[in-house]
Amino acid sequence: MTVQDRTDQREREVVDAVPKRLLIGGAWRDAEGGRTLRVEDPSTTETLAEVADATPADAMAALDAAVAAQASWAAHPPRERGEILRRAFEAIVARADELALLMTLEMGKPLAESKAEVTYAAEFFRWFSEEAVRIAGRYAVAPNGAGRLLVAQQPVGPCLLITPWNFPMAMGTRKIGPAVAAGCTMVVKPASLTPLSMLALAEIMGQAGLPDGVLNVVTTSSSGATMSPLIADQRLRKLSFTGSTEVGRGLMAQASDTLLRLSMELGGNAPFIVFADADLDAAVDGAMIAKMRNIGEACTAANRFHVAAPLAGEFARRLAERMGALVSGRGTGEGVQVGPLIDATQRDKVHELVTDAVERGAKALTGGGHGEGKGYFYQPTVLADVPGGARLLKEEIFGPVAPVATFETEDEAVAAANDTEFGLVSYVYTSDLKRALRICERLETGMIGLNQGLVSNPAAPFGGVKQSGFGREGGPEGIQEYLETKYIAVNL
Ligand code: NAP
Repeated sequence: MTVQDRTDQREREVVDAVPKRLLIGGAWRDAEGGRTLRVEDPSTTETLAEVADATPADAMAALDAAVAAQASWAAHPPRERGEILRRAFEAIVARADELALLMTLEMGKPLAESKAEVTYAAEFFRWFSEEAVRIAGRYAVAPNGAGRLLVAQQPVGPCLLITPWNFPMAMGTRKIGPAVAAGCTMVVKPASLTPLSMLALAEIMGQAGLPDGVLNVVTTSSSGATMSPLIADQRLRKLSFTGSTEVGRGLMAQASDTLLRLSMELGGNAPFIVFADADLDAAVDGAMIAKMRNIGEACTAANRFHVAAPLAGEFARRLAERMGALVSGRGTGEGVQVGPLIDATQRDKVHELVTDAVERGAKALTGGGHGEGKGYFYQPTVLADVPGGARLLKEEIFGPVAPVATFETEDEAVAAANDTEFGLVSYVYTSDLKRALRICERLETGMIGLNQGLVSNPAAPFGGVKQSGFGREGGPEGIQEYLETKYIAVNL
C-alpha cells in the first residue's frame, strides 16, 4: 500500500464512521422516503457522502421528541448535566485528529485550523459544564418590608438551533453547550454543506450519556420549508441562529407570529484600524490572523483595513508579502495554509467584489483571481488604494481578500469604521492607551480586538450589535440565552 493509498483509506474510514441519518428521540433513522443529500469535498468537488435529507414531517418528529424529553431533562440534576458535557469535552479532545480530518474534508480549511476549531468547540462544553451548577436565583425583602421576592431561573424549553457551514462544530457547541447546561432540549439543523461534523458530534453526545430526545439532529436540503413549521409551532420556545443577516431577518419575521425568543449571530464587516502610533509588526501579524483565519470565511474576519496615511503603503506592502507567500491547496496537504472556498457561488462572489474594486481604481498587490486546482480556490489578495465607493468596504467578503484604505484623522477612522449596517467586531492597533480607550468607546460593535487579531474565547460574550444581531454566546452571559426568569411574590 502506498502512502497515498493509506491516506485515502484513512479519509474513507473517517467519513464512513459518521452516522448519516437523522437523530430523532435517540434513534438514528432515515428521512421520509429515504431521501438523501450530497456532501462534497470543496477542494476536489467530489462527493464525500450522502446524508439523510429531512422533510417537514421528519423535522416535526424531531420537535415532538424534544418536547417529550423537556420536562424530565429540566428536572435532571445540574451536576449530571454538567458531567455529560465534561465527558463530551474529553471525548472530543481525545478524538481531535479524526474530527479535524472530517471537518477539513467537508469544509476545506487546513488541518491545523480544523484542529484549532475542534479544540475551540470542545472548550464550550468544558465552560458550560462548569456553568451548569452556577444557575442561581435570588431572595430579597420587598422595599416595603411586607413581602419577599423570590427569583428563579428555569430552562426556556425546547430550542431550535440553526448553524452555518464556516465553523461546522464550534457554532454548534456554543449553542448546544449552554442549552444542555440550562436544561433545554433541542433540534439542531446544521448547514447542508457541512453536516458531517454535527452528526459526529451528536453521536459523541449520546456516548457521553445525553438522554434520548434531548438533542435531535435534522439535516435537510430545503431549510426554509423544513424549518418553517417548527418556527410556527407554539411548543418551540427559542430559536438560536448563526448565519447571514439576510436569512436572520427572514427567520425573525417568521418568529414574530409566536413571539419566539431569539438569539441572532449574524454577518459581520469588521474594520481593522491601524493608527500611526501602532506597532507595525504586531499590526501585520494581527492582520494575518484576523484576515486569514478560516480562509477569510469568518464572521469576525477583518473585512477592510483602515490605515493611517503615513503607514498605509508599508502596511499594505508587508501584508501582501505575507499573504502572497501562503501555501494554498487541499487542507489535508502537508504545509497547506489556505484551503478552497466553500463553493462556486462563494468564490464567484469574492471575485465579483475584487473586480468591482479594481475597476474603481484599487491596485492588486498580490492575488486577484481564482487559484489553481479543481476545487473552489481563490488567491490570497491584497488591494491597495481602495476608493471609498468600492463594494467590498460595505459588503461581507467572506474570502481571502484584504482591501486597504487610508485615513488622516481619528474622527475619520471612527466614521469609516462605523459606516456599515453591521456591528460584530472591530480591531484597533495603537500604542496610545488614552486613544485606545477613546476609540473602543466610540466603535459600534459588540466586540473589539485591541492590539490583537482574534477575539473568540469560550469564556467571553461573543455577539454583535446593529444588523450583526443580538444575544451573546459564551461567557457567563451565554447560558442566560437559555434561561427564563420567574418571579414569585411571597406573602409573609
Ligand atoms: P446562511 O446562508 O444564512 O445559513 C445559515 C444556516 O441557516 C444554515 O444552516 C442554512 O442551511 C440555514 N438556512 C438558510 N436559509 C434558511 C431558512 N430560510 N430557514 C431556516 N434555515 C435556513 O449563512 P451561511 O452562508 O451558512 O454562513 C455564513 C454567514 O454566517 C455569514 O454571513 C457569517 O458572517 C455568518 N456567521 C455569523 C457568526 C456570528 O457569530 N455572528 C458566526 C459564523 C457565521 P442551508 O445552508 O443548508 O440552507
